[in-house]
Amino acid sequence: MQKTIAAISTGNAPGGIGVIRISGDDAIKIADSVFECSDKSSLSDLGGYRAKFGNIVIGGEKQDDAVALVFRAPKSYTGEDVAELSVHGGMLAVQKTLEAVLAAGAQPAGAGEFTKRAFLNGKMDLTQAESVADIISAEGEAELKASYGALHGRLSRSINAVLDRLLDASSTMAAWVDYPDEEIPELEYSELEKTLEFCKNELENLLRNYDKGQTLKAGVDTVIAGRPNVGKSSLMNMLTGTDKSIVTHIEGTTRDIVEENVRLGGIVLHLKDTAGLRESGDIVENIGIEKAHRALDAAQLVLAVFDSSSELTDEDKALIERCRGRLSVAVVNKTDLETGADTDIIENAFDATVYISAKNDEGLESLENAVVSLLGVADFDSTAPLLANSRQKQHCENALSSVAEALDGARLGVTYDAINVMIDAAADELLSLTGKKANAEVVNNIFSKFCVGK
Ligand code: GDP
Repeated sequence: MQKTIAAISTGNAPGGIGVIRISGDDAIKIADSVFECSDKSSLSDLGGYRAKFGNIVIGGEKQDDAVALVFRAPKSYTGEDVAELSVHGGMLAVQKTLEAVLAAGAQPAGAGEFTKRAFLNGKMDLTQAESVADIISAEGEAELKASYGALHGRLSRSINAVLDRLLDASSTMAAWVDYPDEEIPELEYSELEKTLEFCKNELENLLRNYDKGQTLKAGVDTVIAGRPNVGKSSLMNMLTGTDKSIVTHIEGTTRDIVEENVRLGGIVLHLKDTAGLRESGDIVENIGIEKAHRALDAAQLVLAVFDSSSELTDEDKALIERCRGRLSVAVVNKTDLETGADTDIIENAFDATVYISAKNDEGLESLENAVVSLLGVADFDSTAPLLANSRQKQHCENALSSVAEALDGARLGVTYDAINVMIDAAADELLSLTGKKANAEVVNNIFSKFCVGK
């Protein structure tokens, strides 16, 4: 018998509603001991997918109004009996209800333990379980869409389509080799090649999509650079829609690095607004400038800001040189003023140049388009199956290399026995990917990264 577990499933902050989830054989009995239905009925008599209004009662005293939801095994998130108590979402109300549930016999759930049980009870495979964590942590739209697709089996279906063909080919070959006297039709080498080509293609497609998916998932470290007063902080504010960076006309105001995450065209940019790049006599400002140089070196993407209203300075030209060969967008600001800069020099040096007026909030769309196209995610299809992490990618790569080897073997007419070894190796990798063959350590490691309550 699995122990019954409980945890707060809503966030660690006051909110309208807080949910305590209980899962296991005694879930409903335990919920019954802290929850009193207003119609005096018992949750234990309630069928699955039913709700009751009532009160949380602790030590004979009514603590809060609540709604109890009952799910019956196997038709629940975990596949076990589940009760969920929705109470008012004050931290104390939620905590006290959880304590009462634990006092009634439930054990505190570990990180991701509900989802782990769902996996162990066959409610979802590992890729689906991992997508639950991804949905929770998603900041970008494309990531959310891809994770939601994975939760509903988009990746699993694609992997299983490959796996089915591999296992089919493997069993036919094994039967033919092992039972030569039976009337088992021989698998033609040409058929085998076709199957392996299909598998190779599918796996290659998955891997091709991975890097773009990672850019969308992990976000992009981005630095806003430029000499003082070109409008870096104003650009930051335009992007964040706040006044987090200090905007002033006094040179050298942004002495430290201001950081913010913004979503631009579905991509999350981890933005750093840096001190203006210039020679300065001010010790404190120089520390900021030094940090700016280091941030610039480390950034994946540079938004190099120039002032369109004044001639390019040596500092501007130095920045142009530093951006050569880097993923960078020239952001020519202050287009509301008369043009004074030679923008041809900028346009010739950068792969993408956009014109904005941070003051008037103009040009955000062209900046968005430039960033999306520069990062190569413009054609990213978030409805396609997507490998979510390096674990999945590694298994996919290993499977691909075995499939490629098997395909070479088939083309060279290598014996079925030998090809089957390679096909089995590929199948093993895919079974590990979806969790059908994952070892306990890997599974524990995956779920340890979840939050408690999920
Ligand atoms: P930073 O030193 O590069 O961070 O520049 P700031 O964002 O602090 O801006 C410097 C000055 O330029 C401020 O007085 C801003 O109001 C002004 N400024 C910023 N963007 C624009 C713009 O698009 N048009 C005009 N006319 N002024 C701007």
